[in-house]
Amino acid sequence: MFNKRIKVKELLALEPNNQEVTVMGWVRSFRNNQFIALNDGSTNNNIQIVAELGRFDEDILKRITTSASLKVSGVIVSSLGKGQKMDLKATSIEILGDSDAEKYPIQLRNRPTLEYLREVAHFRFRTNTFGAVFRVRHSLAFSVHKFFNDKGFVYMHTPIITASDAEGAGEMFRVTTLPFENPPKTEDGSINFKEDFFGRNTNLTVSGQLEGELAATAFGDIYTFGPTFRAENSNTARHLAEFWMIEPEMAFCDLEDNANLAEEFIKYIIKYAMDNNREDLEFLAQRLADEEKQLPQDKRSEMSLIEKLEFVLNNNFERLTYTEAIDILKESNHNKKKKFQYPVTGWGMDLQSEHERYLVEKHFKKPVILTNYPKEIKAFYMRQNDDGKTVAAMDILAPGIGEIVGGSQREERLDKLEQRMKEMNVPADQLWWYLDTRRFGTVPHAGFGLGFERMVQFVTGMNNIRDVIAFPRTPKSAEF
Ligand code: ATP
Ligand code: MN
Repeated sequence: MFNKRIKVKELLALEPNNQEVTVMGWVRSFRNNQFIALNDGSTNNNIQIVAELGRFDEDILKRITTSASLKVSGVIVSSLGKGQKMDLKATSIEILGDSDAEKYPIQLRNRPTLEYLREVAHFRFRTNTFGAVFRVRHSLAFSVHKFFNDKGFVYMHTPIITASDAEGAGEMFRVTTLPFENPPKTEDGSINFKEDFFGRNTNLTVSGQLEGELAATAFGDIYTFGPTFRAENSNTARHLAEFWMIEPEMAFCDLEDNANLAEEFIKYIIKYAMDNNREDLEFLAQRLADEEKQLPQDKRSEMSLIEKLEFVLNNNFERLTYTEAIDILKESNHNKKKKFQYPVTGWGMDLQSEHERYLVEKHFKKPVILTNYPKEIKAFYMRQNDDGKTVAAMDILAPGIGEIVGGSQREERLDKLEQRMKEMNVPADQLWWYLDTRRFGTVPHAGFGLGFERMVQFVTGMNNIRDVIAFPRTPKSAEF
């Protein structure tokens, strides 16, 4: 019977009064042949188990080693020691699984680096840092569903294998069952995808947006929350080849409504984590502060992690147009002193992440919603503004992260959409079903995509995106 165990988190909330309990977990440490710190993943706090001297056989005691798994029964009493409110006085200790402490790959006393822990990602959940990160990640995921469910949005599962490229320029992973050697060829010598599994060329999805639009034009409000794949060779601390994206899509919605929803959504999920994961966030705030002690003063964050999150909750995001942003960048001392690696050439240029970070971290010092970008640097489906130059796009930029949301009002006018697809060489025949929504009951609609891992980075203060997803997929790396 395993189900009569109490989780450590619940146990620590009790007032100790000789209650009998059974706990199970993994040994964090064993001191003086007497005090076991046991962790079961429900919280970073351990239960201190007291194995009274003389009560247990030596051959049991010597098997209580780092990361061995135990089942312990006993009674809880007020702790005599400092640092914990209760002890579990053990009456029975059962070793569920031994662990050779010398060979266990994580030796906490050696202060393993985050880079090293990525190599032993199968065990990194058993550290305090990753325990906290993944409990926060869970809460954020749960709150995403809660937010949209409470607003009456329908959760859509859009396909993972697709034959369309939503972005028009995404770098995609091909899905095929054709043989590498001697694949079937057409008469002109190219590969004959008609003989492939789906009878056509298919890929892993880069976005569920196009299918999301189909659903929004029936349900009104929908969202997706699923895996997304990009074969971009960007070895940065903000890019994964496999990441999770949340994509709401709303009918009867314009760019301003879209921006309002995105801001409300981001604040809601941050607040949810603040309310439900306080201990873990305080631990992560301390971790970040310790890490930053190694940096020179001017490279350290001005606010603690908790202060930063509170600041985001309590302040409006700054909203401005792309055109206004270019003026700010051009006039900045940073630009005049030629400190940007990519000079600000002027209107029409794509913003590099250093420009985005300048705007949020140096100029406004808060999240920024940038709108109305030049149509040349944005996707074909974005709604064309009356000026003939810009589209109703929005990006949300966050301090320390850069772009966290990309969205737009979509082009609902068939003629304008077809004309733009022609200009951008997007094959209209393959997207007949997408265009059909503009033929039958078209409506103004809008949506956005939020990169879930970037959000988890923002809330946990982890610098590298590889440390907020369980088993990261990046160029040349797909272990576990
Ligand atoms: P970036 O310029 O940072 O590469 P993008 O313009 O390619 O982003 P979109 O196509 O608008 O991004 O995707 C929507 C959101 O998905 C982004 O705002 C970001 O939060 C997230 N995102 C995009 N690419 C990645 C990636 N490779 N890994 C993790 N998250 C990503
Ligand atoms: Mn990208």
